[in-house]
Amino acid sequence: MHNEDFGFETLAVRAGQVRGIEHEHSEPIYTTSSFTFSSAAEAAAVFSGEKQGNIYSRFTNPSVRTFQDRLAALEGGEACVATASGMAAILSVCLALLSQGDHIVCSRGVFGSTITLFERYLSRFGIGVDFVDQTSVSAWEAAISPNTRLLFAETPSNPLMELADIRALVDLAHAHGAWLAVDNCFCTPALQKPLALGADLVIHSATKYLDGQGRCVGGAVVGDAEKVGKEVFGFLRTAGPTMSPFNAWVFLKGLETLDLRMRAHSANAQALAEFLESHPAVERVYFPGLASHAQHALAMTQQSGPGGVVSFEVKGGREAAWRVIDSTRMLSITSNLGDTKTTITHPATTTHGRLSPEQREAAGIREGLLRVSVGLENVNDIMRDLSRGLD
Ligand SMILES: *Cc1c(COP(=O)(O)O)cnc(C)c1O
Repeated sequence: MHNEDFGFETLAVRAGQVRGIEHEHSEPIYTTSSFTFSSAAEAAAVFSGEKQGNIYSRFTNPSVRTFQDRLAALEGGEACVATASGMAAILSVCLALLSQGDHIVCSRGVFGSTITLFERYLSRFGIGVDFVDQTSVSAWEAAISPNTRLLFAETPSNPLMELADIRALVDLAHAHGAWLAVDNCFCTPALQKPLALGADLVIHSATKYLDGQGRCVGGAVVGDAEKVGKEVFGFLRTAGPTMSPFNAWVFLKGLETLDLRMRAHSANAQALAEFLESHPAVERVYFPGLASHAQHALAMTQQSGPGGVVSFEVKGGREAAWRVIDSTRMLSITSNLGDTKTTITHPATTTHGRLSPEQREAAGIREGLLRVSVGLENVNDIMRDLSRGLD
């Protein structure tokens, strides 16, 4: 299959599949830790790299490879490496591509564990990090130093839905001899293609929309053959943060409906955001699909849809926010996102609960803030469930 001849929806369903001798229609799950050889000479040839072949599932596995090839096709990258989790993908990029003395510039609004990984763990190995305001290109520029090797952005960010201007950050990174990595978790390639905008690396928590139904934990890195196909893969096969074949198969099935789901999530989220913006109990709505969003124009050009996460502030602080959560009957009270089921969380006391009140204030995480990952239920039912507390 020549991927460049096919549309996104087709690649999502068919890219990467290699039918076996049984002529199966759906992709099989290869639950095997190792692979056999027809002779001692063949084993030697595969081990030496002279002949292509599977050796051991820490390195390669056909189910994992199908997922990798499909996601690479969807992101438009030369290579993809699947990992055990989204955090394992970020760790693998850093340990494969950075060295002692290198420096990362990262937006302050990234996933909490990413901040902890950089600040608490990578710093011990002599890799420095500075955090900046995602929305200000000049802040990124000011934080760059001669040893900066990586700019790390997550756009839109969680939970305030702030955007990074990918093209501007690409220019900045490349002018300073650094790479730009984009965590594309919230948009997925169905809504945003960072590599096409010039980014060097795309990172995924497959746990979210790629699965889309809240079943498995996994991650992936997509990029070129050198950095990802050789370096990140080389780290993974040695260190072992490998995706299991079963999880790869679940994600593969998730990808088949990705485009449809992201469009439906976006449409439901847009309707909910408009509803919330007109509700008298709501102070402010954070959603890139609204004209009131500070970066609405950028969202309309950089993304092909607004995505499925809506955050909003209710009047009355924590007490009012908790009342909205506790008045729901259908919504799931959980901080996971990217599921067919709508979830609701209070960031100040859950995902951002370990920050000090001052840090939270600086990050814009107020006590009245709620984050909803809008699912695929009927949107009127979602509105009705939230209205109980809001009214
Ligand atoms: C969940 C998440 C991660 C981490 O992924 P895991 O699969 O939980 O390890 C990274 N980035 C973003 C934006 C996330 O939402």
